[in-house]
Amino acid sequence: MGATELGAGGSITIVPLTDIFEITIIKIVLSTWQVTRRGACRSDTNQEERNVGKDISQAVIRRLPRYYRYLGELLDGGVERISSGELSARMNVTASQIRQDLNNFGGFGQQGYGYNVQHLYEEIGKIMGLNERHNIIVIGAGNLGQAIANYMNFEKIGFVIEGLFDINPSLKGRTIRGKKIAMLEELDAFVLHHKVDIAALTVPAESAPSVANHLVELGIRAIWNFAHVDLNLPDRDVVVENVHLSDSLMQLSYNIMMLGSQS
Ligand code: ATP
Repeated sequence: MGATELGAGGSITIVPLTDIFEITIIKIVLSTWQVTRRGACRSDTNQEERNVGKDISQAVIRRLPRYYRYLGELLDGGVERISSGELSARMNVTASQIRQDLNNFGGFGQQGYGYNVQHLYEEIGKIMGLNERHNIIVIGAGNLGQAIANYMNFEKIGFVIEGLFDINPSLKGRTIRGKKIAMLEELDAFVLHHKVDIAALTVPAESAPSVANHLVELGIRAIWNFAHVDLNLPDRDVVVENVHLSDSLMQLSYNIMMLGSQS
């Protein structure tokens, strides 16, 4: 399953669900990074620091995982270098868009050579924070929380599920990929003794705001919110990424109707 975008000529482009997960989680990492470095970068003249501190548009951030995925495929196919034109043809993004996007981070191409695939892949990985480990806890170990914890691909890009918490005693002690579901009362002590970078919130909408506030009080600075409510936390040092799977399904429904009305 994935989100859909209605393309030129009425074609429907499916954005894979895995991309949606990766895009949103990577947006969290980049936003956290921007929030924490913003202050430091004001007086820093170092180029790399300045790029990190700069606000990158959400549209660019959305495209980074796609660049990373395509470059990974090129690497697997033994391709060593690629021009922005060739990359553009593969990715269905204009060559100037690619150059503009990458220029946000200082650009990586060389006139007449194009891009070194390995280098660009590694640099985009670094930009997205994939060279670092990010510890995640899941709050709400129902079907969705367990599915997220069960999804191995996050680990491959450095996002490791460290714990799951719920209020339902019948879930206590159940193991999901080696991690025991704990009760919410154990959360404070857990956060005290473990580094937690991101909390995935998969609780019902009505519980989400209070749980999120508690997470912020515990010092967690990034919330990946799957609850059916937009969380608007006043703390500027906390980043929230709202992921509404049902919105994506409704978008699909709309696009199916549009496709039907065009044929
Ligand atoms: P799912 O939607 O994931 O299939 P469900 O049908 O039980 O599970 P929800 O009612 O959305 O749906 O609850 C998701 C999970 O969140 C449940 O396991 C529930 O026990 C847990 N939960 C509810 N409130 C809280 C809370 N305040 N803190 C932690 N977990 C909670």
